Amino acid sequence: MFQALVVEKDEAGKTSAAVQSLDADQLPDGDVTIAVEYSTVNYKDGLCIGPGGGLVRNYPHVPGIDFAGIVEASDDDRYKPGDKVVLTGWRVGEAHWGGYAQKARVKADWLVPLPEGLSTRQAMAVGTAGFTAMLAVIALEDHGIKDGPVLVTGAAGGVGSVATAILANLGYKVAGVTGRPEAADYLTSLGASQIVAREELNETTKRPLEAETWGGCVDAVGGEMLARLLGQMQYGASVAAVGLAGGAGLPATVIPFLLRGVNLLGIDSVMQPYDSRVQAWARIANDLPMDKLEAMIQPATLSDLPKLGADILKGQVKGRVVVDVNG
Ligand code: NDP
Repeated sequence: MFQALVVEKDEAGKTSAAVQSLDADQLPDGDVTIAVEYSTVNYKDGLCIGPGGGLVRNYPHVPGIDFAGIVEASDDDRYKPGDKVVLTGWRVGEAHWGGYAQKARVKADWLVPLPEGLSTRQAMAVGTAGFTAMLAVIALEDHGIKDGPVLVTGAAGGVGSVATAILANLGYKVAGVTGRPEAADYLTSLGASQIVAREELNETTKRPLEAETWGGCVDAVGGEMLARLLGQMQYGASVAAVGLAGGAGLPATVIPFLLRGVNLLGIDSVMQPYDSRVQAWARIANDLPMDKLEAMIQPATLSDLPKLGADILKGQVKGRVVVDVNG
């Protein structure tokens, strides 16, 4: 038997989440069985745990869109018992049981070996949010980061915290946008050299172009903020669009693309090919200072998850929640 957070749906369509004991026979099909050690809380997890079940495709369901742990049994030559592995994406935690459990069974193709020098706990302090932040930084580098500061929106959140720490460590000036004035010291400790109040970018303007200010941007917020900052990018600079914490609409004009050659790069962490995932995890192990990662961690256990799921949907989680599934 093992412990898991299980989301169930009753006949009236109401969902509920609670920690339950499950039998290994109940695990879904897969090539590799993993003793999960850590998982995390991402925005999608908040949706899956919360009322209505969000993105959950089947019930009963074990959410948790990422996990790190140790291989217990494997039918695939690439993995053997004792190997440390990490998983993000592939609709695990939505369509396939995920990481909010002491055991998981998944397809070998979805896993990545943990890079040297990274523990399972550190890997989940990074988690899907940090992995996505790394993908965003790689995309910006591929298109060329200009000499102005790099803007990070939703900076005190999961994606924003990791993006800030990586970019600062790579030597870029980072401007963090936050709606939480009290997070300024935290963002400075991660390496941000400028704090931008959320209201400054939320104010709408009729001007499609403003002063050329930002040399690149990792945007976790979307919506009106993304529309506004497009007009503030330096000539030829890129925005890596990662999330929609501030809304899915994009009330923008084409002017920044036409007159400033701005690039809008979409980042999707879910369907990344194996080689790209391995490259991103190697870069994380190399480019993310572990003391800064430690400063982002908020520890949790399985029983904390219903509350934390609600908190992340309200934008109230700071940094990265690391769930010790055996805690
Ligand atoms: P978090 O909740 O940890 O961070 C989001 C941050 O955005 C908040 O902390 C807050 O930062 C800011 N924010 C929240 N609401 C608003 C609002 N209404 N207006 C402006 N800013 C707001 O989430 P994550 O960092 O984990 O994820 C961020 C986004 O990225 C989500 O939409 C998520 O779904 C998406 N995502 C996408 C992935 C992909 O593959 N493309 C992978 C992972 C996440 P502050 O308090 O500093 O203002």
